[in-house]
Amino acid sequence: MIRHIQKAAVLGSGVMGAGIAAHLANVGIPTLLLDIVPRELTEEEKAKGLTLNDAEVRNKIAAGALKRLLKQKPAPLTTKKNVSMITAGNLEDDLDQLTDVDWIVEAVVENLAVKKQLFEKVEKYRKPGSIISSNTSGISIEAMAEGRSEEFRRHFLGTHFFNPPRYLKLLEVIPTKDTSPDVLDYMKTFGEDILGKGVVIAKDTPNFIANRIGTYGLLKTIQEMTASGLSAGEVDSITGPLIRRPKSATFRTLDVVGLDTFIHVANNVYEQVEGEEKRVFDVPDFMKKMRDNGWIGAKSGQGFFKKEDKIILELNLETMEYNERKKLKAASIERAKQQKDLEAKWKTLVYSDDKAGTFLWNIIAPVLIYSAQLTGEIADNIVAIDQAMKWGFGWEQGPFEVWDAIGLEPSIQKMEEEGLTVPAWVKELSTNGCTSFYKEENGETYFYHRHEYKKVPVSEKVLDLKKLKKQGNVLKKNSGASLIDIGDGIVLLEFHSPNNAIGIDIITMINYAVEETEKEYKGLVIGNQGKNFCVGANLALILMEAQDDNLWEIDMVVKGFQQAMMRIKYCTKPVVAAPFGMTLGGGAEVCLPAAHIQASAETYMGLVETGVGLIPGGGGNKELYVRHIEQMANGVPFDLQAAANKVFETIALAKTSTSADEARENNFLLEADGISMNSDHLLYDAKQAALHLYESGYRAPKRKKVPVVGETGYAALLLGARAMMKSGFISEHDFKIASKLAYVIAGGGVPFGMEVEEEYLLRLEREAFLSLIAEPKSQQRMQHMLVKGKPLRN
Ligand code: NAD
Repeated sequence: MIRHIQKAAVLGSGVMGAGIAAHLANVGIPTLLLDIVPRELTEEEKAKGLTLNDAEVRNKIAAGALKRLLKQKPAPLTTKKNVSMITAGNLEDDLDQLTDVDWIVEAVVENLAVKKQLFEKVEKYRKPGSIISSNTSGISIEAMAEGRSEEFRRHFLGTHFFNPPRYLKLLEVIPTKDTSPDVLDYMKTFGEDILGKGVVIAKDTPNFIANRIGTYGLLKTIQEMTASGLSAGEVDSITGPLIRRPKSATFRTLDVVGLDTFIHVANNVYEQVEGEEKRVFDVPDFMKKMRDNGWIGAKSGQGFFKKEDKIILELNLETMEYNERKKLKAASIERAKQQKDLEAKWKTLVYSDDKAGTFLWNIIAPVLIYSAQLTGEIADNIVAIDQAMKWGFGWEQGPFEVWDAIGLEPSIQKMEEEGLTVPAWVKELSTNGCTSFYKEENGETYFYHRHEYKKVPVSEKVLDLKKLKKQGNVLKKNSGASLIDIGDGIVLLEFHSPNNAIGIDIITMINYAVEETEKEYKGLVIGNQGKNFCVGANLALILMEAQDDNLWEIDMVVKGFQQAMMRIKYCTKPVVAAPFGMTLGGGAEVCLPAAHIQASAETYMGLVETGVGLIPGGGGNKELYVRHIEQMANGVPFDLQAAANKVFETIALAKTSTSADEARENNFLLEADGISMNSDHLLYDAKQAALHLYESGYRAPKRKKVPVVGETGYAALLLGARAMMKSGFISEHDFKIASKLAYVIAGGGVPFGMEVEEEYLLRLEREAFLSLIAEPKSQQRMQHMLVKGKPLRN
């Protein structure tokens, strides 16, 4: 049987239910969202003459959730249009609709009795073979399935999403002893390939993996904070980016999660464990007091922190009053900040005996030991635990990777000197002569598991550039980019300059990559595994040359960039661009001429040059325009001016898509371009796309002239901009930039509808770019962006 989830239902439309439904809509699965029926009418409903029998009232909880999805930040939907994929209903009138649903996800209140009753009803309506899962944070999955039929239990498991479901990578999948292996396998693949998640198989134990260890770590941190007298702000200043964990560090994260939820999650473990562990999970009284005061964090406006007059204050746990937030200062912090390498950072910190070092050691060591104690009980192996902590909490390293970083031998010695008990299997590992939990051999990673090293399983869909480089696949490299052989006749051009900004080095490598591909390979992928695909051209370099009046040199660079883009476009072999994250300015310009774009679902793409007083200079104006007009079928008359207007608006307003889905709405992506839900699969998908194009007889596009709106179109484009300047919405300089942009998009002073050569449009673009770069106000904008990181309006 080939399983295929075509339609889903989410039961419960609260924070998680609505978020899961939104994510299902994002991946194109029509979803039913059901919640309870209200028992009373509001005054407003009574005034409207509504009764408890009206659908508007009966569906209002789920319908209200849909409305919230459209306003929520960060946006749960990749484009607002996706909300139409979700149908709101209720748990009394609409259960019969479960008969044609392939996956039913339960996300109602965290209460075993409520969940059990609901599953009893679900069983009456669901179709045989459909999958049912619970999003519980920690209730036993097996207990929930008690009383259900064997067929139900075979199709039942836990699918634990993290909040918010669109953005957090982790999906814990929890089978019971009755879950059919085929259902488990399918949900793992579905979670990875379709939902784009990092799936970890967890055992059916209290709070599963990430929340069990995460909550323990947090409670240990709180214990240590009260013992050492540090404040929440001081703790956050050393438990975030310093150790490559999210900016929200410890207490800001707790405020976002909500103290009420946290206490609930901690109590769940407290009730099910014994001894020392129970003592740790006993939430301290001051936290219960905070909860009783309603100081539960972001939801109520105050928690460990609160904002007053734009100043962040922290809660003083002794006086229970808010004071100005503090940051911890210590020599070890300064030394660690100088170190790039995370391993060196960790060692500097945890083996230092100043305040910061001692604190970090005291909170890290117990988490390492606890993770080792639970290996086997909550997850099969250390890899699952590390992945869960990285994907669920945004840590750069999981506990066992941290343990390797601080060194097994010295850390065990320090732990034992302090009276901590190191689990026997970890001691055995170190006495066996092994020096780490993980080891690398020939570019492969191995992990320690039951007395031996085993290869870390890696999906064939994950291409690891670091590994490929270590294995000697780099064909050529300069300071900005490398050309890497990724196998099967495909090469990959990786940008690796600071921020992946485009300079002469990258332009040189693009030309080289295209030349090599044409001679020796089947196709070229342009992609990387940095923080962002590319944030544009090297602005500092351009500004420096502009301030030195080296316009001739800038002209040469811009010409070089434009020509390189033309080489991408007319390469005789397919070039596939693989953008992800920020893909701005020059980054977007590199993608537009490619034969195919394979974008990560989370791609933020835009031609944002106007923000720094410029217009795109690498052919972006032309390519975006061509993308618009080539959407039209041959011979079908269409509105050339409307296409020019749309491109003008997109570039003038520096519109940036908030997802790949939205990038389609501005034609940065076309229908034929691909979207990879799983960012880890992006390069593999791009490689497959290049191979597919090659194998289906790819030919470079024929050179075509481009019809433009010319002089009359130019005047039309400027109408709106002029009105905006007159009414004070945009500055005179904005208008000057808009005029130059309009001239380029219109194709200059030619008659409406005239067909012009691409090179002519590139020349117009270059001239406009160079004239703007010489403008003092544009230079001020660039300077401001470089220094302050945000646009200047002048
Ligand atoms: P929530 O309170 O936002 O939503 C719960 C929903 O359940 C509400 O829409 C409510 O109307 C509905 N409900 C209440 N009583 C009900 C009943 N008797 N029968 C059916 N539905 C009822 O909660 P949430 O945060 O969305 O959590 C939902 C589930 O997801 C819980 O099991 C929770 O443990 C789990 N979870 C939560 C998070 C999180 O961060 N909030 C993360 C992962 C998992």
